[in-house]
Order: sequence, then structure tokens, then C-alpha cells
Amino acid sequence: MTTPPAIRIDNIVKRYAAPDGGANGEGGKLALKGVSFDVPQGGIFGLLGPNGAGKSTLINILAGLVTKTSGGVEIWGFDIDEHPRNAKRAIGIVPQEIVFDPFFTPFEVLENQGGFYGIAKHLRRSEKLLEAVRLSDKRDAYSRTLSGGMKRRLLVAKAMVHSPPILVLDEPTAGVDVELRRQLWELVAGLNDEGVTVVLTTHYLEEAEQLCDRIAIINHGELIANKPTRELVGMAREKIVRVSVDKDLAGPMMERGFSKADVIEPRVIEITYDRDQVSTGQVLALVQQHGYGIEDVTTREPDLEDVFVQLTGAG
Ligand code: ADP
Ligand code: MG
Repeated sequence: MTTPPAIRIDNIVKRYAAPDGGANGEGGKLALKGVSFDVPQGGIFGLLGPNGAGKSTLINILAGLVTKTSGGVEIWGFDIDEHPRNAKRAIGIVPQEIVFDPFFTPFEVLENQGGFYGIAKHLRRSEKLLEAVRLSDKRDAYSRTLSGGMKRRLLVAKAMVHSPPILVLDEPTAGVDVELRRQLWELVAGLNDEGVTVVLTTHYLEEAEQLCDRIAIINHGELIANKPTRELVGMAREKIVRVSVDKDLAGPMMERGFSKADVIEPRVIEITYDRDQVSTGQVLALVQQHGYGIEDVTTREPDLEDVFVQLTGAG
């Protein structure tokens, strides 16, 4: 028997209500157009897509903050319509927007959340969670005095109060500086090492590539890819080679299989080619046939950015 998924998303459609209540006989924005995928247990799953793709809509449906128009969702085996309480208990959500009552201290925020989940006082883990997100020294400070990064970390701790097996983070690093991003990833990777299934949305491709073992891409409310990260990166058929030659380049050099050939310095040309059509060796041979001697060569493997551009047709 295979392990059941942490989350099962089955043909989810979301149409937001029209601002005028549909008075013109038209519905509102169709944010999700029938999206289906499973999030396997135990990994870090990335949901990638440009702004407006429908990521937050999907996350908010999981969180019970947005009602789906149709389709089914199971969280840790619990259908969100039939067993909403059990489904909610299995998931911790760090929302895209930071919202706190500014007059509570981090310790109180966590205690209140524990109370909300009906966790007995002696079973609460507020101190431990503050330690995990390195906020022990801010235990009794007003939340409004915390930096943006500290607030994010507090939100992660808040999402973990009821020890859910699944943690979902919606754009946790949008507008966050490099150092904080690194801290946040360490925290997330640490939780994942302890067995927590992590789902995160981001539009930073590099981040998803480094952190996630599986990536789904959503665009205009449709799922356009869902693969192990390795495989997804391997999907980019284009490859880039930068060639330094022994004399100034005279004009362009287009050949079959080249999709681009840019002279980027007088003696350096960057050629983008389809690796299904030509090999690096053939590209170099073609350059030599144009009468140039080759001095230096560097190649670049396709990354997620390339795949993304290819899949979404984004420029
Ligand atoms: P993402 O998180 O990927 O940036 P969202 O899920 O926030 O995308 O938005 C998807 C689409 O739904 C966008 O076109 C957005 O304008 C629209 N949308 C989001 N929330 C609402 C809402 N409450 N009412 C109407 N339209 C909405
Ligand atoms: Mg969003």
C-alpha cells in the first residue's frame, strides 16, 4: 500500500463573487479553474506561480478562510467539508498578510492560540516554540515592537501551536531581506527534518529550487506542472553556451537549433540552443566553421527560471 497524501486537492474551482453581485449577469473572477494535485507526506512542496495565479486562493481554501465553488479537499485524510475540525487540526497556516493584535506579547499570542485549540495549559509549548523561532528574549515585548522578520517567525510559531503534521507558508519571504530569508529557511528545513510536511508558495524560483523536493506551477488558475524538482529542471530543453573567440565577431551567427545568438562583447557570443537538436560540440564546430578560433567556453544548465519561462510563456 502506498502512503496516503498529506493533502489531496481534487478539481478545485473558485469563482469569487462579482463586485456588483453579478447584476450584469456575469460571475466574478475565476481564480481557480479545476486544479488537482496531491502533496505527498514528509517533503517540502513548492507551489509556484506569478502574482495573481491563484496561490493564496488555494491556501485560503485549505485554511477554511475561502469557500471553494466546487471540488474536494482532503487534509491528512479528512475531507474539509465532512470533517472540518479534524482537517483544521492537521494543518498550520502562516498567512501572506501579517496580522496580530499589537497589544499582545509573543508569549500571549501563543498562549491564546493554544487556548483557541483547547490545549490544556500544562500541555502548551509556548516557551519551546519561542525558543525554536529565536524569540525567547522577546517573550514579553508588545508584538507591535517586533521587526517584520520577528513577526514572521512568531507567525510560524503560532501556526505550530497545535503540533500539526502539515505546515503551510504563503509567500513567507516576500519583501524579506536575505539574512531573514536564510533564517526562515533554516527554521522550515528544521521542522521538515522533524517530520513536518511543508507546503510553501513563492514566486522566487531559485528559492523553490533550493528548498523544495517537489514543485507544482500554477498560472492563471490552472496547474501547468507538478513534478519532482530535479525532473522539472531537467525539462528545460534549451541550453546556453558562452564562447570567447580569437577575433572580433562580425554580425550574427544563426544556425539550425539555435534559438538565440547574442554578441555580448566584441569577442564573446552567447548561444542559446535546443539540446535535442544540437550538442555543445556541434555548436562549437559551427562557430569554427564561421572562421573563428575558440579561446574559452562556459555552459550553463537550465534552471527553474528557464523552465518557468518556457511553461508560462512569460517573457
Ligand atoms: P496569488 O496568491 O497567486 O498572487 P490570489 O489567489 O491572491 O493569487 O489571486 C488570484 C486571482 O483572484 C487574482 O486575479 C485576484 O485578483 C483574484 N482575487 C483574490 N482574492 C479575491 C477576492 N477576495 N475577491 C475577488 N477576487 C479576488
Ligand atoms: Mg498570494
